[in-house]
Amino acid sequence: MYLYETHMHTSPVSFCAESTPEEQVRAYKDRGYTGVIVTDHFINGNSGCPRGLPWNEAMAFFVSGYEKAKAEGEKIGLDVFFGIEYAMFGTEFLTYGLTPEFLFTNPGIDKLTAEEYSALVRENGGYLAQAHPYRAAPWIRNPYPVNPALLDGVEVYNAGSCDDLSNDQAYEFAFLHNLPMQAGTDSHSADFPYTSGIGLREKAGSIFDIIEAIKTGQVELIVP
Ligand SMILES: [Zn+2]
Ligand SMILES: [Zn+2]
Repeated sequence: MYLYETHMHTSPVSFCAESTPEEQVRAYKDRGYTGVIVTDHFINGNSGCPRGLPWNEAMAFFVSGYEKAKAEGEKIGLDVFFGIEYAMFGTEFLTYGLTPEFLFTNPGIDKLTAEEYSALVRENGGYLAQAHPYRAAPWIRNPYPVNPALLDGVEVYNAGSCDDLSNDQAYEFAFLHNLPMQAGTDSHSADFPYTSGIGLREKAGSIFDIIEAIKTGQVELIVP
């Protein structure tokens, strides 16, 4: 089985992350992973991006975590894929299949509703899963899942959720609505005590192989 991390943050792009992209990538290599998807907080989330930057500079900052992780991954032999954790007042979406170039050429996409964002991602060949639905935290205005029709998948296990209840509720939500399931660590530090993710039977050649495996249920959910 080939192990992939679906939810990983780097510092300083994610304000809450403690480890650099290089440290994160090396930690996953040491743990036997084949690849990771870098899902830093977008500029509408807990971003380390200075406020008020012109769009191009903000995007250059945002993609820098991925680019550094990718360069380190090429050095040590870990596949690194591009992702986004998009936020709406604490409701968050893991997004795969879009490119850094797409972000540069679409200024203003940080202020969309869930309906608008879902349509944008899908129209451009991407995939979106709600991250940790039901997680209760002071900064999450609405902890509940969005309309399931807007989602391609659900993060049914998030190792960063301290309560098992929200993970169980997320699983039930995905099960009831027949939505594809994924698990992830939501790692913010290379010292994370345990890691989650998904297991694939075949090595992914691109992020689209990972998306396809999740959508068709061909993944093992890694629950520590
Ligand atoms: Zn975070
Ligand atoms: Zn996250």
